Formats: sequence, structure tokens, C-alpha cells
Amino acid sequence: MQIITHTIRKRTIKPIEIIDITTEVSAAISSSGLDRGQVTIISRHTTAFVNINEKEERLLEDMETWLKRLVPKDGNYQHNLNPIDGRHNAHSHLLGLFMNSSETIPFSEGKLLLGEWQSIFFVELDGPREERSVLLQISGI
Ligand code: ZN
Repeated sequence: MQIITHTIRKRTIKPIEIIDITTEVSAAISSSGLDRGQVTIISRHTTAFVNINEKEERLLEDMETWLKRLVPKDGNYQHNLNPIDGRHNAHSHLLGLFMNSSETIPFSEGKLLLGEWQSIFFVELDGPREERSVLLQISGI
């Protein structure tokens, strides 16, 4: 068995941004040369997450609208009183309670075993950011 790590770097341009990274994950598996195994995808941040969902333009708009409504940016949050990084981002952390930092997806014959309507998203909740990183650890034979 081999284990290969790979980093996907993203610049984000909106406060909340849902970015499809399926193609990049697939490419990393192809270039690993592995036939079958699994890939773990982890966001290395506390205000950005990984999610598997459907890529449909109007649905992506619904997701953004719903996230904004679920936890409004302007609230009476303790975390925003004296933020260690200068960012008033309590709402971003709170939204993260409903998301995953990582997902693990199997692959076979060098292809991700996702369902027909599944795409892998990197979900920015505290953008814009110059650089965000998502780590892939691919293990297989
Ligand atoms: Zn914070």
C-alpha cells in the first residue's frame, strides 16, 4: 500500500463561497498512479469545510442564502469581543458546527466512486482569503 499527500490551494473572493474541487481531487488520484483505495480530503481551517453535495447553479445560490440566514453575521457573539486573529467570524465558526472538516471517498480503477449527482465542495465561510488549503491523503494500491 502507498500513501500520497497532495495539497489543493484556493484563493476565495466571497464571504461565503462554495467551490467545486472534484476535478482537482480526481486529477490527484490519476497522477498518484494508484488503482484503488481511498482519499481523505481535509480542510485545514476552522472556518472552511468540505462537503459532498449536488452541483446545480440555483441550488448553490440557495445554499449560500440559507447559510446567511441560518447564522447572521451580525449577532451578539462572545468570540467577536476580542478576536485573536482580528476577524469577527463567530458566525463562520458556528456554521461550521453543521459541516465536516473532512470526507473520505473510495476510488477504483483510478476513479472516484461518487454517485451520479455528487460533487466535492470546499466551503468557505469566512472569506475572502488569500490562500486556503485542502489536504488530500490518498492511500491505496
Ligand atoms: Zn475566529
